[in-house]
Amino acid sequence: MQSIDNYNFTGKRAIVRVDFNVPLNESFQITDDTRIRAAIPTLKKVLEKGGSLIVMSHLGRPKGPTGKYSLKHIIPAIEEKLGVKVKFAPDCMGEEAAQLSATLKPGEVLLLENLRFYAEEEGKPRGLAEDVSDEEKKVAKAAMKELQKEFTKKLASYADCYINDAFGTAHRAHASTALIAKYFPNDKMFGYVMEGEIVAIDKVLKSPVHPVTAIIGGAKVSSKISIIEKLFDVCDNMIIGGGMVFTFIKAQGGKIGNSLCEDDQMELALSILAKAAAKGVKLYYSGEVVCADAFSNDANTKICQDNAIPDGWLGMDAAPSTLKEWEGVLRASKTVLWNGPVGVFEMEKFANGTKTIATLLADITSTGVFTLVGGGDSVAAVTQMGFANKVSYVSTGGGAMLEYLEGIELPGIAAIRA
Ligand code: AMP
Repeated sequence: MQSIDNYNFTGKRAIVRVDFNVPLNESFQITDDTRIRAAIPTLKKVLEKGGSLIVMSHLGRPKGPTGKYSLKHIIPAIEEKLGVKVKFAPDCMGEEAAQLSATLKPGEVLLLENLRFYAEEEGKPRGLAEDVSDEEKKVAKAAMKELQKEFTKKLASYADCYINDAFGTAHRAHASTALIAKYFPNDKMFGYVMEGEIVAIDKVLKSPVHPVTAIIGGAKVSSKISIIEKLFDVCDNMIIGGGMVFTFIKAQGGKIGNSLCEDDQMELALSILAKAAAKGVKLYYSGEVVCADAFSNDANTKICQDNAIPDGWLGMDAAPSTLKEWEGVLRASKTVLWNGPVGVFEMEKFANGTKTIATLLADITSTGVFTLVGGGDSVAAVTQMGFANKVSYVSTGGGAMLEYLEGIELPGIAAIRA
């Protein structure tokens, strides 16, 4: 398989799908440039090896062309980080895009305008009236499929090779993330972001060093079921924290007061417990919790046993004694995966558990444990706390990472490997 490292880019134009879907404030300033920084090593490598770049991405969820979601807002940030002037094609399908890409010289960079200004990128018909019949929907979908083929073919015509470095959209079979790959049967490869994500997650899923511990937190059991079950195949221990723990406790007859609970998931919670036992996975979740008399940073707090929470009180964070027990498990592990905060970390009063986990993970990483942090809120937590560089890998893939962990073959990965 080709890789950026072994491919000869001399004189070649590489079309690179990056994830430049960065948050912008009202003055169109970037408030978090992590995704741009992440793509720079891939872009630099192509230029260093004598190639030129056609960079493409989506930004936001536009329904059509709009200044608000124009990628022109991020040109200065790319120029600054890449150290190269960036040309801009204000319509990714326009005459200018074709001309600029055809005349691109080694070392030059062209950025295409937001791909999602065209419905063809995602391949979903837009603007259908709500009352259209199923037949009409079918016709519109078929027409869109044809338009998407043309769109994809045109994007492919700009370049000599294709690099996918947008892990965040790898779970979508869009024109630029998957379909375009077939136009480059011998000239397609992953960028460093994609490669890094795949290697890191495979290190947990496919060849982990045991003991393996997963820390699963967050709000809802229902959104984590498939991951929990998949992780039972590789885990020796699983720590369950956050709001979802209370569904497990109530399902076993515990008193959880007003804590978060998904009553319709209790049976499933019991079946998860049974599966863990059958697979020999040791679960850690019982213990003391920090409770509050309101869902507020100003609430009164007290420590309660998690199955004896009084009415009117809710479990908001892991208590120090519970964290101590978890610390022992984590320190005895060789591989740790963390997804989801173990408390309502957005409120300072209930952030201690999540902070402690982040600190512990940084600490055990320095002793040689492989630590992977993934999933929106836990990534935000380690980043806020300044630990992003102190764990082995922080996955920014969000939904893509979760699907990969569930064992789903992502279209963006499959298209390159095909
Ligand atoms: P998720 O997106 O499922 O990972 O959930 C993240 C959310 O879970 C965060 O907004 C946390 O505030 C929330 N959370 C964590 N622990 C609790 C808890 N004990 N009660 C309610 N929400 C919680």
